[in-house]
Amino acid sequence: MTYVFKCKDIGMKDAFEVQADTKEELLPVIQAHAKASHGINEVTPDLLQKINAAIKKKGMF
Ligand SMILES: [Zn+2]
Repeated sequence: MTYVFKCKDIGMKDAFEVQADTKEELLPVIQAHAKASHGINEVTPDLLQKINAAIKKKGMF
């Protein structure tokens, strides 16, 4: 199973997109991007909830 996160899905205008096999692998990458590109030093529980809601499973077809 592949998990996909796109910044666009939480209302950001950039084209950042990341894929990983688990959600656990995805979060540090998203956090690093949030810090580097959006100046977000700390992911709040509110933002984390948004991120989790935006993570999509890419199924097998
Ligand atoms: Zn972004």
